[in-house]
Amino acid sequence: MNNIIKKVVILGGGTAGWMSAAMIKKLIGSAVEIELIESEQIGTVGVGEATIPPIKLFNSVLGIDEAEFLRETKATIKLAIKFENWKNQGDSYYHTFGAAGRSLAFCQFHHLLKRANQLENDQHLWQYDLNYLCAEAGKFAKINSQDPIYDMPYAYHFDAGLYAQFLRKFSEKIGVKRTEGMVQHVQQCQESGYIQALQLTDGRQIAGDLFIDCSGFKGLLIQEKLATGYEDWSHWLQCDRAIAVPSERLEKTLPYTRSIAHSAGWQWRIPLQHRNGNGLVYSSRYYSDQQAQDLLLANLDTKPLAEPKLLRFNTGRRRQQWNKNVVAIGLSSGFLEPLESTSIHLIQSAITRLVHLFPHQGINDVLVSEYNKQSKIEFEQVRDFIILHYHVNQRTDSRFWQDMRTLNVPDSLAHKIELFAESGRLFKEQDDLFQDSSWLQVMVGQGIIPKDYHPIANSVSEAALNEMLAKVKHAKHEPVSSLPSHDEFLKAALKQ
Ligand SMILES: Cc1cc2nc3c(=O)[nH]c(=O)nc-3n(C[C@H](O)[C@H](O)[C@H](O)COP(=O)(O)OP(=O)(O)OC[C@H]3O[C@@H](n4cnc5c(N)ncnc54)[C@H](O)[C@@H]3O)c2cc1C
Repeated sequence: MNNIIKKVVILGGGTAGWMSAAMIKKLIGSAVEIELIESEQIGTVGVGEATIPPIKLFNSVLGIDEAEFLRETKATIKLAIKFENWKNQGDSYYHTFGAAGRSLAFCQFHHLLKRANQLENDQHLWQYDLNYLCAEAGKFAKINSQDPIYDMPYAYHFDAGLYAQFLRKFSEKIGVKRTEGMVQHVQQCQESGYIQALQLTDGRQIAGDLFIDCSGFKGLLIQEKLATGYEDWSHWLQCDRAIAVPSERLEKTLPYTRSIAHSAGWQWRIPLQHRNGNGLVYSSRYYSDQQAQDLLLANLDTKPLAEPKLLRFNTGRRRQQWNKNVVAIGLSSGFLEPLESTSIHLIQSAITRLVHLFPHQGINDVLVSEYNKQSKIEFEQVRDFIILHYHVNQRTDSRFWQDMRTLNVPDSLAHKIELFAESGRLFKEQDDLFQDSSWLQVMVGQGIIPKDYHPIANSVSEAALNEMLAKVKHAKHEPVSSLPSHDEFLKAALKQ
């Protein structure tokens, strides 16, 4: 099959569907017609509130004004995730979007800290991190400086339902056709197995050349029709359920997500302008649904605003995220729990990949296999980073945490942990979403202190090292006091 792609049909109007529609129309819309089908009767998954910094690039490619976006999606600023009780009960650490200190040529900053005996006390690292200092102080503003020492990468917390609506308006304005209706039958070519058209319950037929399956967990096209198969990772990531509930907003809006570990799972607290998002991710082997719900409701900061909602999931990925003329994007392509807020990013990156590999002259095996290879590597890298948080823990208070500790982790992760523990060496795998600074913070935060440091750290004298560390620390602390609070920033930004 090698037909020129003239029409793209997107099935699903959740975050994945509308992000796909907006970006594909914006970038290649002059060459293809785009129609999105969604069913209000089915609705969307209705969760997904925390993001990571590349979302800013997504919005900026679409030409979205930040103030309008903040207003329309009730967004707040996210500088970090605070992990509480993960290493041990009572401990906490941050995974910030920033990087600690300033590295020398060929020598990452943490080797210098190790040499100065400042890595042993796991609080030192963050004293050199502007994101951490602002998160703790509840402050935020964009610092106008070319000096990378003042870089403060950020992302957003937002209402994913409002984001989808915002992108729907945007997409319809630039020419995406939206069709309300429920798909009942899928027509497939007998010979090639390619999807030809989707038939709605009222009999309407929507034909296309390329179909993007954004139908959520069930994967109506990629799985129910094409039986693509699923690689199950639940032996590594054993949480398989979540209970979510919104609650009243806190008086002071934190510029970070809280991730609080419990005896068999963890709880998120996400501050939005109008409410808090809360949820408990847990393993059904260790908690009943009732226990999980009781635990969540007993651990809210503020009054719940709705009935708790139970969500079941199966951690893993679709064996081929592009199969025949169907590309699965969003929940239909696989799922990794929201510990590092990666799902919306995986949507963004799948769309980017599809745009790069867009089969304008027709679908061929080379494009499909390149797409599938890149998607597989990306999912596996994120998977490893998430497993790290669970595996490297020192908790002795519950069976769950002990089981996580003794888990046989993927070889790729075991190697990374060993390399760091021995000599502090950290290498970013090609295209790994998470930079060295992310791996460093989670490894140190979870209690891995390397035995040694790189000898290049000895290239400066002890006096020069101490002076340099003091200067860097001063530079990182210095701007914080003059920055507005996060709430003051939001108030000013929303007025624009
Ligand atoms: C507990 C939990 C917490 C999460 N937290 C985060 C987070 O903090 N950060 C993050 O990045 N991500 C998070 N996610 C993931 C995020 O919610 C999803 O990645 C995102 O919402 C995309 O969902 P979707 O569009 O793929 O699917 P859905 O929202 O389920 O949308 C599916 C769409 O398909 C349509 N549809 C289905 N069947 C048919 C049919 N037969 N006919 C017509 N239309 C149909 C539906 O109407 C709907 O429009 C979380 C997920 C879960 C489960």
